[in-house]
Amino acid sequence: MSELINKVSQFFSSGIIDLFIGYKKGRLGEGKPAFFTKPEQLNELIFDENCIVNLAVYLRKPELKKYSKIGVLANFGTLRALLQLAAENQIADGQYLILTVADGKVLEFANLKAIEEYVANNLPKPNPERIAFLKEIESKSREERWEFWTRELASCIRCYACRAACPLCYCEQCLVECNQPQWVGVPPTGMGNLEWHIVRAMHLAGRCIGCGECEAACPMEIPIGFLTQKLNMAIISNFGQVPGTKLEPDYALSTFKVDDKENFIR
Ligand code: SF4
Ligand code: SF4
Repeated sequence: MSELINKVSQFFSSGIIDLFIGYKKGRLGEGKPAFFTKPEQLNELIFDENCIVNLAVYLRKPELKKYSKIGVLANFGTLRALLQLAAENQIADGQYLILTVADGKVLEFANLKAIEEYVANNLPKPNPERIAFLKEIESKSREERWEFWTRELASCIRCYACRAACPLCYCEQCLVECNQPQWVGVPPTGMGNLEWHIVRAMHLAGRCIGCGECEAACPMEIPIGFLTQKLNMAIISNFGQVPGTKLEPDYALSTFKVDDKENFIR
């Protein structure tokens, strides 16, 4: 950890950064997001397997605009979110100083291209337990799947913690807060909940980088990550696009090729 602290301390002393977003130990031993503005604070900086929060969620917050250069300690999910945000023109090369720790060594990325290469070489295989769960849902009849999701989503209290935790949910005004026209019913009831979750999943289809922050944030333990994961699997198998792995903008749902499959038209 001393290598990381020394490095970040040097960035502060040489004026390269004026804010560093990393982690410190939380009350229950978790890696808690932490905002460091002075080298003297860095004795609290940690990075271990408990640092799972996706720090990319903070980068578009207006509160950070007053800082001239921000450093970020990125776990793998954060690196993928950075690539996806760059592909969506939400962040630019050189805007942030990005570090990670791999095999006990601190890595400083020269640019977003270097992150793209790192992600390509370290992409994990899908979690077999999640795939097994998805297959189990897929094996159900249409009526059983409807029953499963309406039951799960009925407990949603519409706190929008899933939206707040998601690094790719960055619209300044979310559709659920529009009331002229009112697209999605406000009360946390059956139909409004279904509308919200369909909107959320479709807006993240092919963009979700699978960091799991939405599910982790949900106080009702609703397995909403499976909705976006399922949509992503369809996009990967039909269009070969894996979100959070490429810098160039190429989004299946906003473009077409003349030889695209049309088997969805019935
Ligand atoms: S897993 Fe959830 S929080 Fe992470 S990018 Fe996908 S929708 Fe957003
Ligand atoms: S965090 Fe859970 S309860 Fe809150 S809006 Fe999202 S799905 Fe519903």
